[in-house]
Amino acid sequence: MSDLIFCRYRHDVDPQLSYEAAIAENPANAPSHSGSRKKRAIYGSTRLWQPGRTLKFSFLGSPSIELKLKILNTGSQWVSQSGANLGIALYHDNYLQADIRIKVDPKALHNESALGTDALLIKTNETMTLNVLPDSENFEPIVLHEFGHVFGATHEHQNPLADIPWNEDELMNVMTKQRGWSEADVRSQFLEKQTEANTFFTTYDRESIMHYQIAQWMTLGDWEVGANKKLSEYDLAFMRRAYPLANTPT
Ligand SMILES: [Zn+2]
Repeated sequence: MSDLIFCRYRHDVDPQLSYEAAIAENPANAPSHSGSRKKRAIYGSTRLWQPGRTLKFSFLGSPSIELKLKILNTGSQWVSQSGANLGIALYHDNYLQADIRIKVDPKALHNESALGTDALLIKTNETMTLNVLPDSENFEPIVLHEFGHVFGATHEHQNPLADIPWNEDELMNVMTKQRGWSEADVRSQFLEKQTEANTFFTTYDRESIMHYQIAQWMTLGDWEVGANKKLSEYDLAFMRRAYPLANTPT
C-alpha cells in the first residue's frame, strides 16, 4: 500500500469563520434553501471564489523558477481546460498578501491545501504544502488534486451521492497504525460525506482527480477505484459551473 497517496485538505478550520469568509467572498456560496435542498447544516456552504477574480499565488521560501512554473502550469489546467472565469497570477516569493501561498517541502508529511476560501483564514503560513518532487510520476496528479481544493473542490469519494462500502475497521487500523493519521483525519478525509450544502457536484464521478484511489482492502467485497491521473470531464464541468462568465446563466 506504500504507493497509495492521499492528498488532504485542511479540516482544522472554525466552521463559523469558514462560512463567514465564504459568504463575504462570494454570496453564491450560501446554501440554497429552494428546490429539493434542505436546511441541513447551519454553517454549511460551498467555498468558491468570486467568479472573475484573479487569485494571487506566491511561493514561500525560494524554490526554483522552473519548479514554480511547473506547479503553476499544472494546476492552471483546471482553468485553461475548462474556460472557467478565474485568473491566476504569480507574485514574488514570500508575498504574504497572496491568496494562495505554496510551500514546497520534500520532508513534509502530507500534500495538503486549504479548501477554497478557507485560505482567507490563514494569515501568514502556507495555504498549500507540496512534498512531491517534479520528477515523480505522481507530480501531476498530486498538484492537480491540491489545486482542485484551491478552487473549492471537495473530495469526490465524500460526495453525498457516493456509496462506498468502506471497511472502516481496516481502514482506520491501517491509516492510524501504519500511516500515523489520527482517527479524526481518517474520518474527515475518507469517511464523512459532504453535505449537499457543502458541495457543488451534480453527479458522482469515479474518474475525478478529487477521488482517492480506493484499494480493495479498504472496502468490503469487490470494490475499488484506480488512481486517476488527469482532470475528468466532470471536474471541468464543475469549474464552468463554479466560475461562469459574467451574464452566463448558471
Ligand atoms: Zn484532497
